[in-house]
Amino acid sequence: MSPRSNASVKASIWTARFIPAFLVAIVVYSSWAVVDPLSINYLINPPRDDIPRRISAGIAIPIVYFVLLIPVAATWLRLLLVVLRDPGYIPRGPEEERRLSEPAPGIEQFWTRDVFVCDPNGMPIYCEYCKNWKPDRTHHSQDVARCTRKMDHFCPWVGGVVGERGFKFFVQFLFYTMILTCYLTVVFGYFISKYSHSVHFFVVLALAGFFLLFTTGMVINSLHMVFQNTTTIEGVSRRLYLAVILPPELQKDPLAPPPPAKLSPGDDNDSERPLTSELDDPSHVNYFTRQPRPPKRPQPPSSHSPARSKIWKATITYPLHLPIDRPPLPAPERRTFAILHTPPGLNPWNLGSGYRNFTAVFGYKVHEWLIPLKMSPCCDHSSRVSEFPLGPEFELLLVDAGLIRPESSDGKDRRSSSAPSRRRRRRLEPGWQNGERPDGWVSEKEARRIRNEWRRRTKMEKQVDVY
Ligand SMILES: [Zn+2]
Repeated sequence: MSPRSNASVKASIWTARFIPAFLVAIVVYSSWAVVDPLSINYLINPPRDDIPRRISAGIAIPIVYFVLLIPVAATWLRLLLVVLRDPGYIPRGPEEERRLSEPAPGIEQFWTRDVFVCDPNGMPIYCEYCKNWKPDRTHHSQDVARCTRKMDHFCPWVGGVVGERGFKFFVQFLFYTMILTCYLTVVFGYFISKYSHSVHFFVVLALAGFFLLFTTGMVINSLHMVFQNTTTIEGVSRRLYLAVILPPELQKDPLAPPPPAKLSPGDDNDSERPLTSELDDPSHVNYFTRQPRPPKRPQPPSSHSPARSKIWKATITYPLHLPIDRPPLPAPERRTFAILHTPPGLNPWNLGSGYRNFTAVFGYKVHEWLIPLKMSPCCDHSSRVSEFPLGPEFELLLVDAGLIRPESSDGKDRRSSSAPSRRRRRRLEPGWQNGERPDGWVSEKEARRIRNEWRRRTKMEKQVDVY
């Protein structure tokens, strides 16, 4: 990817401003066609004597049309406002060259959380164009030369980037447009069958039919992504590196973490970047605080043991100890993270049910689903656990990495416990559950379903690659 020239960025922004104006022109024309050729000059004042005069239809049809137009206009204006002002942009970093030996400022925003997306070395992802760190699920748009959180796509129809702040309004706009164009298609389709001498009837029918097909496809596709908690960009199955804070016992036990993985030559081989297993007390650990019950007998190494986990690539301890030529600052407490490589198809932000994923974008009340006012709950990044709430697939990743052990691994225990609800309240602690984590442990059945889903996604991706 090469940075696009300023002229090209300007051109795409200009196109994106022009197309909304074109959309407005279409709406003005359709409104006129409904009122004048259809209602006044056909239904109320029929052009021929053999056509009956239908005054009530001539009044009702435009009224219904304008009632349906109101939510289309409202959602479109709301979306436009968000897209033009701030679709979820990440601030640009300072322009001046920073010293390569030091990480850019703001890195503590990442390692003071418990989980963040990182590169193979355990560093947050850096955007060279914006000169700033990229929070989880952020993508750099070449069209507007900015990084946007949970960017979905660059949409010329609304004049900019649809990101986390605009996606709800975008889907609402599509949905209401679908209803409006469906209405126009039916109305004009019906009257063309009665009277085919007005060219405007045909033009409106063609426009409405085209936008009906277009928006229906988009609504289905967008809702599918909402229910999966993914975006157009993330939809392409890919593997991520996640830095995950180690539980307290592993932060203390120098033998537990595996040796740092050797990076392939293609990776960034900056020797100053520590790939370290230095261990210390964590400053705070939200979801590992409850110590697991001590096993009754020494357990044989299971397939989940960290040393044998293929997805646990390395560990990294923050703050980084880089060679600096100034006196050390008072050191914050160290935090050691496991660097996990997710299996193909894993979506750590899938909250486990379509409804939970839907409310993360659309809100918890029915009126929020319909009215384009409130921002999506997923725009709140105040949690110190992670930028976005994590779901059961992430839990499964922790199990596979050997960071937590599934409760059901002890067969005897399972039989003796008669209350499944008690078994469900297990190891992960409140910080994790403060709305950040859906309730319920990943059961074996659920884990099997999730793994099958990963396999299916990977297969789909391969098929896409073939074609
Ligand atoms: Zn960027």
